[in-house]
Amino acid sequence: MRVAALVLAAGRGERLGAEVPKGLLPIAGRPLLARAIEGLVACADIDVIVPVVPAAERTRCAALLRGMDRVAAPVAGGAERQDSMRAGLAALPPDVEWVAVHDAARPLVRAADVTRVVAAARRHGAALLAVPVRDTLKRVSGGRVAETLPRAACWAAQTPQVFRVELLREALAKAEAEGFQGTDDAQLVERLGVPVEVVEGDPSNLKITWPEDVELAEALLARRSRGPA
Ligand code: C5P
Repeated sequence: MRVAALVLAAGRGERLGAEVPKGLLPIAGRPLLARAIEGLVACADIDVIVPVVPAAERTRCAALLRGMDRVAAPVAGGAERQDSMRAGLAALPPDVEWVAVHDAARPLVRAADVTRVVAAARRHGAALLAVPVRDTLKRVSGGRVAETLPRAACWAAQTPQVFRVELLREALAKAEAEGFQGTDDAQLVERLGVPVEVVEGDPSNLKITWPEDVELAEALLARRSRGPA
């Protein structure tokens, strides 16, 4: 059955301090949103891609993405990431059974990793890409360490995160009824008590948050364009 990707690009990107909205920020000369979408277009498992962008940027984003294969008209996002996800879910074509939610802030996602996480979701109902953490994680409260988390059990969640559409709709409805805002989509599904399968991703699928992340992404892209060493 059909698989859709929602590409969330409606954030303000304030931590980047850029003059243009984050999705339009050039990464090695190509806007972040276009690069994130290209990574999904390269994956044959994705049938349709729905970009979610700031309401004021819909026209500009539509022009940027015009002519890209399998890319639908951009949808207006909301104030929080979860609001943008809801807007994207509401805009999915009715015959879509699986949804891969991806942050536009991750422009380096590889098609092969998308394929693996879609396949895991098809087997288990819900799956995400994640990488083992390198640092020891501390839970901090009031400037002091409250707890040290066991590193071997800690993974950093990435996107895409893939779900059966009806499962994500149910998880979102529960979160909204309870006034809960998650920082990723899997968290909403976990709150239903449904297991989410972890697929080891690639550290290069980094999330552009701070200005130095742009430099790192550009260096990784330059290395990829030179091909395998
Ligand atoms: O804010 P955060 O770093 O969690 O953003 C992750 C992704 O969610 C980004 O790609 C951002 O554009 C998107 N987002 C959104 N709508 C918002 C906030 C964030 O689409 N209101």
